[in-house]
This record gives sequence, structure tokens and C-alpha cells, in this order.
Amino acid sequence: MQLRKTRDVRIGSVTLGATHPVAVQSMTATRTQDLEATLRQVRLLEEAGADLIRIAIDTKNDVKALAWIRPQTNANLVVDLQENYRLAEQVAPFVQKLRYNPGHLYHLERSKPIAEKVQYLVDVARAYDCALRVGVNCGSVDPDKLSKYASDDSITPMVESALEHCSMLDEMGFDRYVVSLKDSDPNKVIEGNVRFAQVRPDVPLHLGVTEAGMPPDGIIKTRIAFEQLLSRGIGDTIRVSLTLPFEKKGDEVTVGRQILDDIANGRFRSVPKFEQTGLNIISCPSCSRVENEAFIDLAMSVREMTEYAREHRITIAVMGCRVNGPGETDDADLGMWCAPSFVNLKKGPATIGQFTYDEILGRLRTELDRLIEEKSAGHRPA
Ligand code: SF4
Repeated sequence: MQLRKTRDVRIGSVTLGATHPVAVQSMTATRTQDLEATLRQVRLLEEAGADLIRIAIDTKNDVKALAWIRPQTNANLVVDLQENYRLAEQVAPFVQKLRYNPGHLYHLERSKPIAEKVQYLVDVARAYDCALRVGVNCGSVDPDKLSKYASDDSITPMVESALEHCSMLDEMGFDRYVVSLKDSDPNKVIEGNVRFAQVRPDVPLHLGVTEAGMPPDGIIKTRIAFEQLLSRGIGDTIRVSLTLPFEKKGDEVTVGRQILDDIANGRFRSVPKFEQTGLNIISCPSCSRVENEAFIDLAMSVREMTEYAREHRITIAVMGCRVNGPGETDDADLGMWCAPSFVNLKKGPATIGQFTYDEILGRLRTELDRLIEEKSAGHRPA
């Protein structure tokens, strides 16, 4: 085990960095405005031992919900500012960390320089004693970075985006930040984090395999990435993202602690490389943005229905909402993202159509059969 070299970053009562244990975090999956359900999930995650609990906030009503939840828990709360970074000022009084996504920041208020938006977030974080996370995600990388590299290189743009934001924050004299570089492919998570840590060994890293899917596959993918990174001294906090029923969400934390314990005691289970040999189902862990709670049943039904195709090297993605669903299904052979009353079905980046929750499995089966036929005939039409 190599030692970590990261500096300290305090987030409420938890400090990340080389001289502190690796922290375990998770995220609520309920609609944030469903007050009782969200508070119940915060308590479930606290009971499971989460060091940090993230809540997604998109609207002013979500902020009101957060204000209601805050006095009822001592948990270190983190807010995900994906689509609406301007809410930072309103949420910061209630939380210990703000996460922003450089890709989303790029798209919002296009006429404003990105550094100005980052400066705003730094000013808010300073004023309310918050830390920041620069959360770079494979499905939503800043297009200026993507266009500089070959389309099959998704790692360099992610690393470059993260490094650029670190430089901006450094120039602003703000060092209470951590970085994450996430992908649904554990090999890319490993490579992206290794490359980032080679340049910035001082910056604490939040590790995660996004849309890892359901147990046990989702746990296996996550374990492979964490074993490879933590054993090299990379990673200061982890989040295991699993598609789980709401009442089981605490499992993300217990699984994370189990993986950490196994690594600390030399119980490694991974081989150095994760080779996709058969069917790969990726699904998001769901969060307050999920557009229909039928999503979790749908993800599970997709796994059951596609069992017959498990020998085929095909990736199927199931995503819970329109925020990340459209972008993060592009790389899958077949992708679904959920809307309130229908499911969008895609083949690669192309949309096939919209189907009701009752129709979607049948149509997916048709498309999967067609794809298997195309692949066995040795071609895949664009
Ligand atoms: S895809 Fe949407 S619902 Fe799923 S975790 Fe991401 S933001 Fe939440």
C-alpha cells in the first residue's frame, strides 16, 4: 500500500487528506421536496455510518426542503449544484460542501467567463465556511475539452478539465477543494485518477464509479477501481453508487466500509484489469431527480429480461432522469433514460423513440435481439 500525499480539506466535522481515514459518503435518492422521505433517507445513511451525505438541489423549493431538513440532523451535508449553480448562495448556509460540475458550469450563462462563475462559488464557499468539490463526469465534460482530442479518448478531456479548475481555484487562493473524475467504466476511473494524481498529488480525490448498476455487478466494478487506486495511495473519500430500493440505500455505505476494510487488510479480489466479457448493464444510483420511481423496478426488470443475452458483449444503460440520462447513455449500445410517463430508448447516440413504462421492456427486447443479430453478422449499422 502506497501512502497518500494529499493535503487536508475540512468538510464540517470530517477532514479529508493523507493524515485522515478515507471517508465514506452517499447521496439521498428521494425527491428532495418529499420531506419525510428525504429525512428518513438521511437518517438511514447516518445510521449506516456515512461521513458525508449529499442532496441534489435544483430549485428554490428544494432549498426550502433543505432548510427544513438541516435542523433535524447533525450530518455533514453536501449539495450537488448541477443545473443551477446560482442557488449556491441560498444553499450554502445549510451545508458543509458544494459540488459543481465544470461541464454544467460551461453551459450555464455562456456569455460569462467560467473563471467568473468559479469566483462566485469560491466567494460563497468562503462566506459560509464550505468546501468545494470539482466533480468531473464522463457524460458531461466541457465540450471545448472534448473537441481537442480524438473521440475515443474520453480520459484526457476529463483530466484536463479537472486540472484547469484546480489552477483556477489555486489562483483565487482557495485550497479547500477536492476533485472527482468519474466514469461508469472502472478502467477509465483508474486511469483518469492515476493521471490526475501524478500531476496533482496534493489534491484530495473523491473516488466513484458512476452508474455502477445493481449489486453484485455494481459492487464488483466499484471494488476493482477502489482496490487499484487506494492501494496506490490515491483516494481520500469514496462513494459507492448502486441502484437500490430506497430502504436499502444504506448499503452503499456498508459496502464502501467493507471494501475499505478488505483493502486495509490485504483482502484483494480484483485482477488488474476489468475486461468486459459479456453483457454489461450500467444504471444510475438514482437521486432526487429521478423522474419516476418506477425507474428502480425498470432497472431490475432490464437485468432479469436480458439474462438470456449475458454472453454477448453489449452495454445497456438505464438512467433515471433527463439531467444526466441523455449524455450518459450515448456510449451504451442501448440506452434508456426516464421521463415522468415514458422512457426514451436509444441505440448509441441515436434516439429510437419514447415508450410507456409498460411498453419499454418489449421494445428493448426487440432492439436487443436485432443488435445481437447484427453483431453476429459482423456489422453494426450506424
Ligand atoms: S441520472 Fe439523474 S436520477 Fe440518476 S443519479 Fe444521475 S441525476 Fe440522479
